[in-house]
Amino acid sequence: EKVYLNGSIVPHQDAKISVFDRGFIFGDGIYEVMVQINGSFFYKEAHLNRLKDGLQKVNIKFDVDILPKEISKLLEASELTNKDCMLYIQITRGVAPRQHSYPADILPTVMMYAIPKVLPDINEIDAKVITRDDFRWSRCDIKMTSLLGNVMLNEEAMQYDCYETIMHRNGLYTEASHSNVFFVKDNVVYTHPADEYILNGITRIIVLDLCKSLNIEINESPISIDDLTTIDEAFLTGTITQIASIKQIDEHILYTGNKKGPITRKLQEALLKLK
Ligand code: PMP
Repeated sequence: EKVYLNGSIVPHQDAKISVFDRGFIFGDGIYEVMVQINGSFFYKEAHLNRLKDGLQKVNIKFDVDILPKEISKLLEASELTNKDCMLYIQITRGVAPRQHSYPADILPTVMMYAIPKVLPDINEIDAKVITRDDFRWSRCDIKMTSLLGNVMLNEEAMQYDCYETIMHRNGLYTEASHSNVFFVKDNVVYTHPADEYILNGITRIIVLDLCKSLNIEINESPISIDDLTTIDEAFLTGTITQIASIKQIDEHILYTGNKKGPITRKLQEALLKLK
């Protein structure tokens, strides 16, 4: 497995960074994940633009425009050119003596790797999820490498043999530990607005666009935990998750077996057609 590190492509065992890298010490970094399907990265521009935005929000100075060429080199070295794969990109603030403030001339650490990945057959997933209070900070719009909150919340789902943990803040569903969440109620698709309490998923944006082209009504406002029993359908979205139908939220059963709702199914089929 090859790793791209600061302009070099090396075997992963040889990719070494300083223990004083602020990514290691503080989780001071931004990351991105995208998938190559049928020879091209799905919504590559949107992913790279989000990376650019994230870096800007935390004042890490790095020129994202150099990446497409570097990604091509990495794929070639990894023998993944035109193959279905997952690409991980991480840019941390760089190496400096440990203190919260950082030097103005610090150089970012850029790391990428690509591994073969065939996306799961979305139709096979009928997810059970748990819900937890969203105890994360209030800048969830930043795709940062400090993911301890998400890790803790996701781990609980694993312990309950569930697919994901959906979070709620002040009684309103926000998102899940590594995906966005949508609800369907009376043929209207609801999802939390793209403010500072959620990551604005690229798949979330694609699904909203698909709703528009399919003439499905959208309401970008949060659903209250008190309205759980009035929900007709629910699903998760994410780059790897794609659109995963939810069959059970805590003790509340939305459907049994594989009888997912018609709007979820319609959106899954439409997403598949884009690839
Ligand atoms: N929310 C969180 C917290 C995530 O980690 C992710 C996946 N990275 C998403 C939403 C979905 O984003 P995307 O559709 O861009 O993968």
